[in-house]
Amino acid sequence: MNDLANILLVDDKQENLVALRAILEPLGQNLILARSGEEALRRLLVHDVTVILLDVQMPELDGFETAGLIRQREKTRAIPIIFLTAISKEEHHVFRGYSAGAVDYLLKPFDPEILRSKVSVFIELHRKNVELQRRAELVRERELAAARRESEHRYRALADAMPQIVWTAGPDGKATYYNRRWYEYTGLEPGPPQGDEWISVVHPDDLQRTLALRRGTLASGEVFEIEYRFRALDGSYRWHLGRAVPLRNNTGEIEFWVGTATEIDAQKRTEQAQDFLLRTGEVLAGSLDYRRTLQSVARLAVPEIADWCAVDLVEGDGSINSLALTHADPAKVTFARELRERYPPNPDVDEGAVRVIRSGKSELVREITDEMLEAAAVDELHLDLIGELGLRSYMCVPLAVRDEVLGAITFVGAESGRRFDENDLRLAEELARRAATAIDNARLYRQAEERAQAARVLAAIGDGVVLLDADGVVRLWNAAAEAITGIRREEVLARRAPDVWPGFANALPRVPVGSSGVPVPADSVPVDAGGRELWLSVSGVEFEGGTVYAFRDLTEERALEQMRQDLVATVSHELRTPLAAIYGSALTLRRTDLELEEAMREKLLEVIAEESSRLADIVNDLLLVSQLDAGKLHVRIEHCDARELVQGVIESARTHLPEGITVRLEEPVGKLEPVAADEDQLRQVIANILDNSIKYSPDGGDVRVTLLPTDRYLRFVIADRGLGIPPAEQARIFEKFYRLDPDMTRGIGGTGLGLYICRELVRRFDGRIWVEPNDGRGSVFFVEIPFAYAGEPVVPPRAPSFSARQR
Ligand code: ADP
Repeated sequence: MNDLANILLVDDKQENLVALRAILEPLGQNLILARSGEEALRRLLVHDVTVILLDVQMPELDGFETAGLIRQREKTRAIPIIFLTAISKEEHHVFRGYSAGAVDYLLKPFDPEILRSKVSVFIELHRKNVELQRRAELVRERELAAARRESEHRYRALADAMPQIVWTAGPDGKATYYNRRWYEYTGLEPGPPQGDEWISVVHPDDLQRTLALRRGTLASGEVFEIEYRFRALDGSYRWHLGRAVPLRNNTGEIEFWVGTATEIDAQKRTEQAQDFLLRTGEVLAGSLDYRRTLQSVARLAVPEIADWCAVDLVEGDGSINSLALTHADPAKVTFARELRERYPPNPDVDEGAVRVIRSGKSELVREITDEMLEAAAVDELHLDLIGELGLRSYMCVPLAVRDEVLGAITFVGAESGRRFDENDLRLAEELARRAATAIDNARLYRQAEERAQAARVLAAIGDGVVLLDADGVVRLWNAAAEAITGIRREEVLARRAPDVWPGFANALPRVPVGSSGVPVPADSVPVDAGGRELWLSVSGVEFEGGTVYAFRDLTEERALEQMRQDLVATVSHELRTPLAAIYGSALTLRRTDLELEEAMREKLLEVIAEESSRLADIVNDLLLVSQLDAGKLHVRIEHCDARELVQGVIESARTHLPEGITVRLEEPVGKLEPVAADEDQLRQVIANILDNSIKYSPDGGDVRVTLLPTDRYLRFVIADRGLGIPPAEQARIFEKFYRLDPDMTRGIGGTGLGLYICRELVRRFDGRIWVEPNDGRGSVFFVEIPFAYAGEPVVPPRAPSFSARQR
C-alpha cells in the first residue's frame, strides 16, 4: 500500500474540479480527477482510492447511481464517499445520499477548511491503515523467516537421517553442506565445509573424469551424474552413484546444487564380477594349455579384483609349484620373489596356499593385522620387508574338482586399500571353480588324446593285439589281428573267443601269460585259422579287465625255416653224391699199387668231369635262385626261333638218354613265328622240363615234345609216361626246394629248384607254366610263351647280365 492516499474527485464541471483540487492540494496527497460517473468507475478499476468526493448532479450517471455501482463492486464497496451537492438539504435527498453509502454530505459552496478537515480524517485513516499493514507485513516476514529456518532445520534433519550422502553446493560448485552420513562414511571432521574436501576422498582413478564432468555441468546447468569411488573411514573405496541437480530462483539463475551419493558398491561389484568372470571364462575356454591360461587369469585379476594374485599348482609328484605371481608393478613381483627366496616358507608349517590345498577350504582375512605379519615374519628385517608390500587383506581359494584339489589361487589387497569380504570370496570361489574345471577338461582332453593315440598305435602296429575279458569275450581286435587271421573285427567283437576263433581258444593253454604289467617272452604255437595252420608267436598279459594277447604271424618265417632245413638236407645230399664220386675216382686214380687200364682211367676221369659239372649245375641253380629272389636277374627279351631251340635241347638230351626212353619232337608244318623271350633262359626252361620227364620216367617210356601255336602264344607241350604227379601236388612242385619224394626212395636226386626257376623265368617272359596228368600215366608240362610281333621293342637291360646254365 502506498503511503500517499489517492483521492478521487468527481464533477462534471471543470471549474468545480479545479476548485476542489485547489482546496485539497495542500494536503499533499494524490488527486485523481474524473468528469463523469463512468470515468470515476474506470479510475477505480486501476487505483486504490482512499476517499471519493462525488458530485450529485451530473448528466448521464448522477452521483447516487454512480455510488450505487461503486457499492456493488466488492473491491470498492468500502471506499468512503463524500457527496457534494448544490441542492437544498432536503431530508429525503440527504437520506438518499446516505443510503447510497455516503459518509458525509457537503453542500456547495463549501468551506475549504471544512472540506480539507473532512478529507484529512480519511487520509489519517489511510495512514493508519498503511502503518498497520506495514506492521502486519513485518510480523509476517519475521514469521516467514522463522518458518524458513524451521523448514531448513527439518530438511537438514531429513538429510541427516538419510542413508545416502547428501550435500549442497553453491553455483561455483563448492560444497556448502554435507549431511551426517557423509561424515560417518568418510570419517572427515564435521564442521563448516571448506568446499573441496570431497576431492580428497574420491578414488584417484576416478578423480579426473569426475572433475571434468563437474566443470561441464557447472557451466551447462545440466544434471550431474557419475559413478565413482569414495574412500570410507576404513580406507576401502566403495562405488557410489553421484547425482546433483541445480535449484534455480525466479529469474532462472542457479541458486545452489543439491547432490546425493548412493552406494552402489554391491551392484557395481556384481557387475564387475560378472564381467571379470566372463573375460576369464573366455581365456579359460580359449586354450588347452591350462598353465598358460592360469597365468593369464592371474594377470587379468590384477588390479581388477586384487593387487596381488598368485596361483599354486600341485604337481604330479605331490609338490606344490608357484605357477604365477602377478602385480601391476613388475618390480614388486621381483621384490616379492626375492623375499620368498630369502625367506622360503617352512614346509612343516601349514600356512597360506598349502593349508588351503590340504584342507580344500577357502580362507578369508579381511584385515591383515600387524600381529599376523609379526607371526609370519622370521626376524625384524623380514617384517620390515613384508611391511613394504603393504598387505592389507587376503583370500585364498582351492582349485578343486571332483574331490581333488589341483592347487589354489591367492588374492591379496594392498596399496589400493581394498578389503575383501564375503562377496569377493564368492567371486574368487567361482573363478577357482571355473579354472579347476578348465584344468580338468584340459587333462581329460589330453587323456582322451593319449588314448586315441594309443588306439591309433594299436591299430597301426604289426602285431595282432586281442583283448579277452574275464569271460573270454573279445573286447579288442586290432587291424593286424584282422590281417593275420583274416577275421574281421565286426565278426568277433563282443563274442566269445571259442565261438569265433576256436583254434586260438584251443591254443590258449599253451600261451605264456604274465601278470599285470610284467611281460613274459612269447612262445610259438601252431593255431588253426579256418583250416589254415598259422604259427603264431603269442604272449599274454593279465590285467584287471581281462587278458591282452599280442601275437606275431611266424607262418612265413616258419616256412622259410622249413625251407632252409630242406635246402640243407637236399643240397648237402646233392653235393655229397657227386663229391663222393669225384673223391672216389680221384683216390683210385692216385693209387700206385693198382695198375689201371687206360679205359678204366678214362672212365674215372669222365666220372670226375661229369660229377664236377653236376656240382657246377647245382651251384649255378642256387646262384640263379638267389638272383631271382633278389630281383637282380637280367632278362633280355629277343626274337627266338622256338623250333631251332627245341631241336637243340632234344639233341643234347639224346646224347645221354637212359635206356628205355625215347624223345620225339612233333613240330607243326610250315613257318613258326618267333617268340619273345631271353633265348638262353627259355632254353634252360625247356631243357629242365625235358630233363625231368626223362629223370622221372625210371621205367622208361616215350617223351613227346609238341609245339602248338595258339592265337597269341606258342605252347610247348612235354608229355611223359613216368611217375606222374598227384593233382594236390601239381601247384607245389613249382615251389622252391619242393620235391615229391624228398627222401629219394626211388633214388632220383634233385634240389627241388628246377621248376621254381622255370616258373620265375616264364613269368618274366609274360608266359605261363603248368602241369597236368597225362592220359593214364605220367605228366604233361605246358609252357606258353608269347609270340614276338614285328617292330615290338626289346626291353632294355635292367641289371648286370647273368650267364644262365647252358646244356
Ligand atoms: P628236382 O627235379 O631237382 O627235384 P624240380 O624242381 O625240377 O626239382 O622238380 C620238383 C619235383 O617235381 C621233383 O622233385 C619231382 O618230385 C617232381 N617232378 C618234376 N617233374 C616231374 C615229372 N616229369 N614227373 C614226375 N614228377 C616230376
